[in-house]
Amino acid sequence: MRRQFIAGKILIYSMARRNKQIRNTINARPRAKIRRELQAIYDALLRAYGPRNWWPGESKTEVVIGAILTQNTNWKNVEKAMERLRHGNLIDWSRLRDIPNEELAVVIKPAGYQNLKARRLKNFVTWLWQHHGGCLDPLKDVPLDEIRKSLLSINGIGPETADSILLYALERPSFVVDTFTGRLARRHGLIHPAHTYAELKQLFELHLAPDVAGYNEYHALIVEVGKRNCGPTPRCAGCPLERFKHSSCD
Ligand code: SF4
Repeated sequence: MRRQFIAGKILIYSMARRNKQIRNTINARPRAKIRRELQAIYDALLRAYGPRNWWPGESKTEVVIGAILTQNTNWKNVEKAMERLRHGNLIDWSRLRDIPNEELAVVIKPAGYQNLKARRLKNFVTWLWQHHGGCLDPLKDVPLDEIRKSLLSINGIGPETADSILLYALERPSFVVDTFTGRLARRHGLIHPAHTYAELKQLFELHLAPDVAGYNEYHALIVEVGKRNCGPTPRCAGCPLERFKHSSCD
C-alpha cells in the first residue's frame, strides 16, 4: 500500500516536472515568433473559410441571454429557447426581473438544465439591476478588468460566459477561449498541455492587438476548424492548418 502511494507520488511529481519543462520551453519562445504564428494561423483560416459573421443574436440582450443558455448545450437548442423567450416578450430586462424562476425555467426548457439556467439568468438580471440600473449601456464605461471581475462574481457566470458577454454584447476586447481553442493551441505547440483558461486567453491577448472585431473573427474561425477538422480525433489531412507544424495528439 505504502509502495503504491510512493509510486503515485513519484508519477505525479514527474508529470508536474514534465509539464513545467514544456511550459518553460513554450514560454521561452520569442513573443514575435508566437505573434507571427498566431497571425499566420488566422490568415490561413480566414482564407479557407472567409469571415464567419459570428454570434447570432438580434440584440445585445439576446447575446447575453444566449451566452448563459449555451452552457452545456448546442446552439440549436438555445435558438429554440430564444424563440420561446421572444414569443413571450421576455427579451427584456424588466420582464426577466419580474418573471418567477419556475416560469422562466418552463420557457427556456429546450436549452436543457432549465432550472439551473433560469437561476443563472436571474442571477445576472439581479446583478444588472442592482449595479447598473437594468441597462447594459453603462457597462461599456467600466474598466475592462473591473467589469470582468464583477461578472465573474455572479453565481453561474464562468470565464467563458463572462468573456462572451464582454466581447459579443459589450464589444470589449476580451478574447474568448474554449475547448476548440485549447486543442488547436496544444496541438500546434503554442501552449503547454496542462494550461489553464487564463493562460490560454493570455496567449492570444498578449500577442494580438486588442481588437474586438479581430478577436471575434479569430474565435469564430477556431470554432470552425474545430468542428470541421480539429475535434477530439484530429483530421489533419486537408485541414487549412495542415502545413503548420503540429502534433495530432493532446
Ligand atoms: S486538425 Fe490537425 S492541422 Fe488541423 S488544426 Fe487540428 S492539429 Fe492542426
